Amino acid sequence: MLDNLSQRLARVVKTIKGEARLTEANTQEMLREIRIALLEADVALPVVRDFVAKVREKALGQDVLQSLTPGQALVGIVNRELAELMGGKAAELSFATQPPAIILMAGLQGAGKTTTVGKLAKWLRENLKKKVLTVSCDVYRPAAIEQLRTVTEQAGADFFPSTPQQKPADIARDALQWAKTHYHDVLLVDTAGRLAIDEQMMAEIAQLHAQLKPIETLFVVDAMQGQDAVNTARAFNETLPLTGVVLTKLDGDSRGGAALSVKAITGKPIKFVGVGEKLTGLESFHPERMANRILGMGDIVSLVEEAQKAVDEKSAKALADKLKSGSRFDLNDFLQQLGQMKRMGGLSSLVDKLPAQFQAAAGQADMGKAEKELKRMQGIIHSMTRAERAKPDQIKASRKRRIATGAGVQVQDVNRLLAQFDQMQSMMKKMQKGGLAKMMRGMKG
Ligand code: GDP
Repeated sequence: MLDNLSQRLARVVKTIKGEARLTEANTQEMLREIRIALLEADVALPVVRDFVAKVREKALGQDVLQSLTPGQALVGIVNRELAELMGGKAAELSFATQPPAIILMAGLQGAGKTTTVGKLAKWLRENLKKKVLTVSCDVYRPAAIEQLRTVTEQAGADFFPSTPQQKPADIARDALQWAKTHYHDVLLVDTAGRLAIDEQMMAEIAQLHAQLKPIETLFVVDAMQGQDAVNTARAFNETLPLTGVVLTKLDGDSRGGAALSVKAITGKPIKFVGVGEKLTGLESFHPERMANRILGMGDIVSLVEEAQKAVDEKSAKALADKLKSGSRFDLNDFLQQLGQMKRMGGLSSLVDKLPAQFQAAAGQADMGKAEKELKRMQGIIHSMTRAERAKPDQIKASRKRRIATGAGVQVQDVNRLLAQFDQMQSMMKKMQKGGLAKMMRGMKG
């Protein structure tokens, strides 16, 4: 995510940190580097100017110059100002209304609106335990209504059907009535993609807004559009009072300018970012964590949060108990561990959140290859019977052949997996003898 910007700024940070003294000259040089990095990331010029001016003012202030580690103090300033630029504190969704809380979604066609409605439905269900109803007021493209039905079903939320023959206002009225009588906490309203210059379409969504009085009006924009995305959001905000922005496709090779300038240009915070095509690819937006990520300091908080979500506490405790009682770690346990890794959004999404120095190391390994290998291991274990997984040392030649055929691999792949597992098991044994309890205590802290 935002690789170029992050690499550039991480380099600047590294240089600044190393400076024992800050002089007018070296401070100037660093500010110049930061300015170039931001412009290359497609951040709007006035925003860049303002940002650099703020950092300069603070950098030349007494606190930094008198600090024992002026370089570090300056990095701290850049970090805080970056977070400030993106809105400071995280902006959360508001539910301060009689249920259902209505969320109206707007955006250009192809921005990722419908996908985002599906992601949001899933996010609201899983993270906030909300009962969610979705409805499409896009009467111009029948396929859009079907698409929303599909993603809503995948998200496990309820869908209110509509047809292209209906009027958007009527659809919205009926959906709201249904949500009220069926005790939904949230009503997500998808709308047709439109351009701000299309007056008729803008009048339509303004009317929907007036009728529904949504507590949230979210504007969905594609981060790849850079400054254009931000200008579109500003134009919309003039007709339709937005409460926040969802920036999609941040997983692509977006230069990041939109993420940095949306708040400054529109006055509205980014509330979520889309980081993948799948319904799990949505993250709530935290300016401070994003600033850390951009400066190559990693986003350990999100990483830990994701790990906590992925780890099923009951099964983690069951495994700990099992090992404590002296039982052996077997392939059934191993399979479960592999599943948890997958649930954390795959290896590349994990690497994204690591500090730069670790990312560099991980970058040398081929993540795509590593993920394929993980899948292959899972496939092999899946072709074993439960009994075989419990006692892998009983897997002899004929069984190996059957397992290999089942998983579509060679017998030597099965052998390699068993050897790797052997190593892991002896490591587990050592931990069991000595430090497992100690390790678990350490992890909790
Ligand atoms: P709409 O016309 O605004 O409703 O856009 P769609 O929801 O149909 O999305 C358009 C395309 O963008 C689809 O191919 C989506 O899979 C893709 N998309 C949406 N959000 C993301 C995202 O966060 N990351 C990536 N890589 N693709 C996305």
